[in-house]
Amino acid sequence: MFEKDIRHITDTVTLFEVTYKKDSFVINGKEYPLGYTSYFAIQPDCRFMYTQVYAELERFADSLTDDLSHDGLIEYRSRLITAISSLEKIPFFSLFDLEQYKEKISFLLSEERINQYSEIYAFSQSGFDLSSADKADQADDLMKCLDDFYLVLSLGRILHQAINDLTHYSALVFQITNKIVERGARTKSQLAEAFGACLFDPYCSLIFHTDQQPFCTRASVIPVVEKADGESHLFRKVYYNSMKDFLYTDLFEGYRHGHYLWQCGICDDYFFMTTAHKQLYCSTVNPKYGVPCAYVAKHPEVLQRKPEQQKKTDSPHHLLWKRRNNLIRKNKSLGKYDDAVSAKAKEYIDSCFELAQVDFEYAITQYDKDMEMTNVYRKAMEMLNV
Ligand SMILES: [Zn+2]
Repeated sequence: MFEKDIRHITDTVTLFEVTYKKDSFVINGKEYPLGYTSYFAIQPDCRFMYTQVYAELERFADSLTDDLSHDGLIEYRSRLITAISSLEKIPFFSLFDLEQYKEKISFLLSEERINQYSEIYAFSQSGFDLSSADKADQADDLMKCLDDFYLVLSLGRILHQAINDLTHYSALVFQITNKIVERGARTKSQLAEAFGACLFDPYCSLIFHTDQQPFCTRASVIPVVEKADGESHLFRKVYYNSMKDFLYTDLFEGYRHGHYLWQCGICDDYFFMTTAHKQLYCSTVNPKYGVPCAYVAKHPEVLQRKPEQQKKTDSPHHLLWKRRNNLIRKNKSLGKYDDAVSAKAKEYIDSCFELAQVDFEYAITQYDKDMEMTNVYRKAMEMLNV
């Protein structure tokens, strides 16, 4: 029952809206580089997502269309909210305002609405009773929430479809990324070739139907004007009806802009690149070495050391600190700087060294400069307010 209406709602309801800018998209008030959904989707929590519970939810919704009851709708509301809450742990879903979906479900399945849906269902079984003006008015009121009734019955299917689309996308991103890494495709032109080759690869076509118009976006597009830095910009806002259309569009747009995933040669994790330069290692701290993989690659000596045995004194940062400390003491004994300045100079190099231990970007880019003696004494004077 209601199959046609449920299908109609499933095919037309707006699930979320996305604004496309020059090389980024904005969803739920947050901006991401184009293609960034692939970074979320390639993580194991998406690739190996347990989807049974959403299939079960769709079956439950289907059973309601044949045998609707007040208790059944209450059970349905609780299952829908539990299913959405379970998505909160998965970083991919930080793209969406899950709280807002839960509120909407609570609203659509409030006690009052549930009673109305039960009446609609009863009417649909035995026909409408329009024998008096009052009854006709009552029927009229009920008809006003008919669309909500169909939407409610569609929710199980919509959610199951969205989850299926995500796991499907996740598998495709994994295949394409591995092909791109294998080929060593980094420039926009190489990425375009690799992406095209994947889409028309017989294996990909068979599994993902990538040769059959995978980007058949069914979405409404409206122009929006936004002001930034005194300038007006014209952007494209898209209302999406399906998760698949959003994800495949993003992947496609991402590659078009030379954004792609690369696999770190040290930790094997994937990282997202927005420029076609040749970064081979990620900037995430590698728990094995306590420093980012990119740092490990530049300082191969880190690989040879067992981190737990590594002494602070081994690092080049500590050697520099030691040299500076010796100089400060020497200058003090020569009478070049007094006790107070020398003490502040020591305090300053200690703080730089400490920062270099925890902030690797600082250690690579700024530490050496800060540790130059002229800068050290200037800072010491500043600290003394001289
Ligand atoms: Zn890494």
